Amino acid sequence: MSDSMMIESDLGSDVLDLIHESIFLRDLDGRILYWNKASQELYGWSSTDIIGRVAHELLTSEHPDSIVCLEARVRETGRWDGELKRTTASGTQVIIEARWSIRRNCQGIPIGIVETGRDITARKATERVLTESEHRYRNLFQAMAASFWELDFTLVGVMVRGLFASGVQDLGQHFISHPELVREMMLATHVLDVNEQTVTLFGRGNKDELLGSVEPFWPESSTQVFAQSIVAAVSRKLNYVMETKLRNIDGREFDVLFTASFPPENMQKGILMVGVIDLSARNQAFAAMEQSEFRYRNLFEVMAVSFWQLDSSGLNRMFAELRTQGVSDLSAHIDEHPEFIRQAMDVCVAIDVNERTLTMYGATERSQMLGPITRFWVQGHYEAFRRSMEAAYRGEPGYLEETKTRALDGREIDVLFFVTAPPQMRAKGMVLVGNIDISELVASRVALEGMQSNLIHAARITMLGELTASIAHEVNQPLAAITTNGEAGLRWLNRPEPDVGEVRDLTVRMVADARRAADIISRIRGMACHGTSERLSLPLNNVVKEAVQFLRHELQAQNVELSLILAQHLPRICVDRTLLQQVIVNLSINAMQAMEQAQVVDRRICITTASLDATTVELVVEDNGPGIAKADLDRLFDSFFTTKKTGMGMGLPICRTVIQSHGGSIQASNNTQTRGARFTVTLPVAG
Ligand code: ADP
Repeated sequence: MSDSMMIESDLGSDVLDLIHESIFLRDLDGRILYWNKASQELYGWSSTDIIGRVAHELLTSEHPDSIVCLEARVRETGRWDGELKRTTASGTQVIIEARWSIRRNCQGIPIGIVETGRDITARKATERVLTESEHRYRNLFQAMAASFWELDFTLVGVMVRGLFASGVQDLGQHFISHPELVREMMLATHVLDVNEQTVTLFGRGNKDELLGSVEPFWPESSTQVFAQSIVAAVSRKLNYVMETKLRNIDGREFDVLFTASFPPENMQKGILMVGVIDLSARNQAFAAMEQSEFRYRNLFEVMAVSFWQLDSSGLNRMFAELRTQGVSDLSAHIDEHPEFIRQAMDVCVAIDVNERTLTMYGATERSQMLGPITRFWVQGHYEAFRRSMEAAYRGEPGYLEETKTRALDGREIDVLFFVTAPPQMRAKGMVLVGNIDISELVASRVALEGMQSNLIHAARITMLGELTASIAHEVNQPLAAITTNGEAGLRWLNRPEPDVGEVRDLTVRMVADARRAADIISRIRGMACHGTSERLSLPLNNVVKEAVQFLRHELQAQNVELSLILAQHLPRICVDRTLLQQVIVNLSINAMQAMEQAQVVDRRICITTASLDATTVELVVEDNGPGIAKADLDRLFDSFFTTKKTGMGMGLPICRTVIQSHGGSIQASNNTQTRGARFTVTLPVAG
């Protein structure tokens, strides 16, 4: 009996044909001996086509392990099952779930292999799709930057149905008036699963902590959002989205975008999918932006600085053009093309200015200030603009310089002009310009400089007083010589026989001496050419306050505390303002130097004014330095008396000259309490 007949006789071929599974028998060389009907249907070959063909070759059996291996295994163990990839007669690939078993003859010798097989191609495809989608879903659930919650909503469903049954019609309204009910519903909503993002956002690293009710995550203020999501679900909406606040397991609240989706198939199962996106970072950034925008606006508007927002994109284009031309030094380029400055001004366009700019530049409306900035620059004062260009070209983020600008009515305004344009801003063609009005400052500085030069001049004149002694000595000498020579000449002339030769000699000497004297005199006049001092009726206190202005810087630098005790209603004095100021400055500088020399820690100067009697006012300058040695008190006002290494000993004599020339007096003493020096000046009141 043939092997195939043996199988058929085992089961009966008609029976085998009734079976839905493919069954075929192959000999040990793989040649097909029997092929049932289901095999024919599955692979497309009829039994007559296939008998005697090598099964694996024909069906191109494939398996991750080689077919030879599988064959060896089945011979060894008698069985094998697994999945094979095969190709049908039509060329389609199929996946076969196959089971092989050894057939033996009656002597127990293997004669062939029976294979039963099932086409599982379709099942496999579905499985793959399923795993893929499951995988995708898992991935989505896990990996998305959103927090996902799978919630069991069943009990809430029951509660809502109960409410409807009890006659509630407007669920939303009912929730508003019964927030405690919403909280109960939260307690009844159970967390089935959450993704990792949720653990990060809401938990402390342990997912299980979150798998209770959702109630702890909903702050009171958000209760109605939860309520509305229930209303949305009940109204068969597909989803509900709302910005709200949720809180994490530790109670920290944060802003979120809450989304709940209600696909019908989930709703039937009582499952609710919720997505939560953390908005706190966004909101913070937004708030910060809003604030900075607000702050900027506030600054822009409220500050006492004229602010200009310029559109500098035209300038950017000009710069870009220059760079393509290879210009690296804008300054050198402007030297060659001075017209560049005006062209650059013309393309810097004011697009916004603040209130202060309007008042400062005399505009009634903002629109008057907008447009190219050229007209606000004063011709001949383009340097600051030029240098700001050069700084910008070098990529510097800001620039500051004093300059002059022009108001709409043509007034020139001294300003501190500054440009702010960090690279990102400049790249966008945005530049912020500020102009601080410093006209008053400049005016007072000019006045101060004037006063200083006056003071220097006064110092020179008063110095003359002291120099007079030595000058007089010099002038005296030629004068004496002239007198002597003149007398001698007269004597020679008065002789009975006048000696003209002698007289000529003497006269020549006299002329030379007279010339020397004249020279000395003209030298003195040259020094004093500034004119004579001007006396005015002034309040002493004003002169003191003005003098203090000169000292401010020095007092600060030396850390000296100055107190002014100025008597009110003092009668005016008739003085040269500058000279008296110089006395006060001299005395104060001396005081500072004395305290510095003695390394006094707590340095103080006190200037007092008082009315002594109806005709005299008093000015006292006191310090808390080492005071004046008794032996020096008498010599203090002598010319050239000094105890300082680099002193000239001219300060106090000058002071005395000035004061005396005003009909006053000056005296030095020591304060018995502080032991510091005290200089007392008296001056007659104006007549
Ligand atoms: P100089 O300051 O060049 O020395 P001054 O004529 O102004 O010339 O002062 C003469 C001297 O008087 C000083 O060298 C100093 O010894 C003394 N003197 C002046 N003012 C004070 C003072 N406030 N405290 C102590 N000594 C002083």
